[in-house]
Amino acid sequence: MDRMTGTTTDSLAEEPRVIRAIILDLDKCLAPPEEIGRAFFDPPIDAIRRTNKGTLSDEALESAIKDFWHLSYDDIATRHGFSPAMFRAGWKAYRSLRMPGPLRGYGDLDVLAEFRVPLFLVTTGFRDFQESKVDALGIRERFVEVIVDDIDGHVRLGKFRIFGELLDRNRWQPESMLVVGDNPESEIAAGNRLGMPTVQILRPGVSRDASARWHVGDLAELSEMLRTSTVSLKS
Ligand SMILES: [Mg+2]
Repeated sequence: MDRMTGTTTDSLAEEPRVIRAIILDLDKCLAPPEEIGRAFFDPPIDAIRRTNKGTLSDEALESAIKDFWHLSYDDIATRHGFSPAMFRAGWKAYRSLRMPGPLRGYGDLDVLAEFRVPLFLVTTGFRDFQESKVDALGIRERFVEVIVDDIDGHVRLGKFRIFGELLDRNRWQPESMLVVGDNPESEIAAGNRLGMPTVQILRPGVSRDASARWHVGDLAELSEMLRTSTVSLKS
C-alpha cells in the first residue's frame, strides 16, 4: 500500500507548485515534549502550586500541569485562569529553565538534510529555553534561521507576523513557502491566513485537522510527498 494514501489529502496536491523554503515548528513537530521528563518542569509547577492558595481545585491544577508538555506558558496560564501571583511565580521559574540535552527528537531529524531549500525554524516559548532545546537536538545548523516568538518579550509577535515578515524579507510568494507543524491554531492558521501551503504533521497524540492543506505522519513522508507529488523543491 502506498504509505501516502493513509494520511495525505491527495486531491489538493494536484495543482503544480514550487516550494522555495520550508518553515518548521519545533515542539510536537521535530521534538516530542514528553522526551523532557516531567521532573524537569518541577520548578515552575512547584511555584504555581505554592501560590495557588485555592484559586484552582486540585483537579484543575492537575489539568493545567498536563498542558506544560504541549502549550506555551502564557497559553496555559490564560486557559486555566492562573491568579496574577501564580502567573508571576510560574513565569519566574519557567524562564530560567534550560535544556541540558542531548535530546533525540522524533528520531527522523536526519531527513531535514534531504530538503534542499532554505529551512526556517519558528517556535513559541521562552527564548533561552527554546534555544537550549534546539542545541540539545543538535539541529541548529540545519536552519538558515531559528526564530523564537519569545513570550518573555514586551510584545509577542505571533507566527502570522513572523511568517509575513519572512515572506517580505525574502520576496517569496506565499504559495512557495511551505509551513509544517502540528498546531491548527498556531502555525497552520498563520500559514493559511497568509496563503501559504500548510502541512500538518501527525505525530503521536496530534489530532488531524482539516484546516491544513496536507497531512503527513513524519518527515520521511513529507520528503516523499515533495519528491513524488506535483509539489517540488526549487532552490
Ligand atoms: Mg508545535
